[in-house]
Amino acid sequence: MSQHVLVTGGAGFIGSHTVVQLVNAGHQVTILDNLSNSSIIALERIKKLCTGPLDFIEGDIRNPSLLEKLFSDHDITAVIHFAGLKAVGESVEKPLEYYENNVGGTTQLLKAMQHAGVKTFIFSSSATVYGDPETLPITEDSPRSTTNPYGQTKLMCEHILEDLDQTQDGWKIILLRYFNPVGAHISGTIGESPAGTPNNLMPFVSQVASGRRDTLSVFGNDYPTKDGTGVRDYIHVEDLAEGHLAALNYLLEQPDNTLQAINLGTGKGISVLELVNAFEQASGQQIPYQISPRRSGDIATCYADATRAKSLLGWQATKTVEDMCNDTWRWQSQNPNGYDA
Ligand code: NAD
Ligand code: UDP
Repeated sequence: MSQHVLVTGGAGFIGSHTVVQLVNAGHQVTILDNLSNSSIIALERIKKLCTGPLDFIEGDIRNPSLLEKLFSDHDITAVIHFAGLKAVGESVEKPLEYYENNVGGTTQLLKAMQHAGVKTFIFSSSATVYGDPETLPITEDSPRSTTNPYGQTKLMCEHILEDLDQTQDGWKIILLRYFNPVGAHISGTIGESPAGTPNNLMPFVSQVASGRRDTLSVFGNDYPTKDGTGVRDYIHVEDLAEGHLAALNYLLEQPDNTLQAINLGTGKGISVLELVNAFEQASGQQIPYQISPRRSGDIATCYADATRAKSLLGWQATKTVEDMCNDTWRWQSQNPNGYDA
């Protein structure tokens, strides 16, 4: 059944891929994005990939009057909430900005939804809420803890949503805990376009492959892992986007007062050096690297138990590490500076 979905942060990396899939599945979509970490060029490219119309509002989730008008002008039935700041290191330097944007912004959005009677909500959470996991793979019932302000904002939003579910009628909520999103649309026209030096492994590797950066620093080779380097559960952004459609379909069939936390990962752990090798194969480029000290706050290993997503949503990741590298490389080589000219 076609829905009118408000997608906050829909011009960003994960939002853009999800918007294309939502529109092409027949949903009506309104994007709300302040373009603080995205570009109007992304919007134009998203529109070209969509087979139906797309509505874009440039604005901030922290603006209550804009939200009130948005909900009264549009017959929104569900919200997928990507908007937020996401850089761990920056969150340590600017914690107040992170709390204000991620927690304050989410609260404003939920207040406007409550007021408008729109109570179907999908939240972009993160595997960071599991902290340094005691057991692997990580299930949704694993203990939660965080080590930096960014992670705190995600955990605080989860608690706010749990309180809403406990105390207020009518909400249907899914907390999607993403593992490590990578990859790009197969067209090579939309992808991840980090501002400045990338913090994450995949964009750094792809920029080294394209010659934009000289050398990758591998942060530690003395972890208790298969080759000593950090192990993560990389998931293709197109699989992740499909997970949001599955979550939306699931919520629409549920009775009121539903809250589920669901991991979106592949269930497979890949080391830094394995990813570098796979990227060399995909790109045909050499990726020079040096072993550097461990990065502060990093954990050795993190991968999902993805069985709940399969049993509840009927969703599982299908794309391989090769797909992730091929699609990232197509995006990187066609857009060496991302959306910047
Ligand atoms: P992104 O930065 O590419 O996209 C976020 C979008 O939100 C951007 O387009 C930005 O302009 C917009 N935005 C930020 N603050 C806003 C505000 N106050 N009002 C309106 N728009 C605002 O990030 P992404 O990688 O697409 O991540 C999307 C969500 O998923 C974020 O909440 C992030 O924390 C979460 N997440 C991301 C990852 C990851 O590795 N990419 C992992 C786990 C969770
Ligand atoms: N990593 C690295 N060099 C980099 C960036 C990341 O060796 O320039 C490593 C990092 O230590 C971790 C893995 O790559 O083991 C994934 O890091 P990323 O920041 O992408 O994700 P996160 O640590 O947040 O899961």
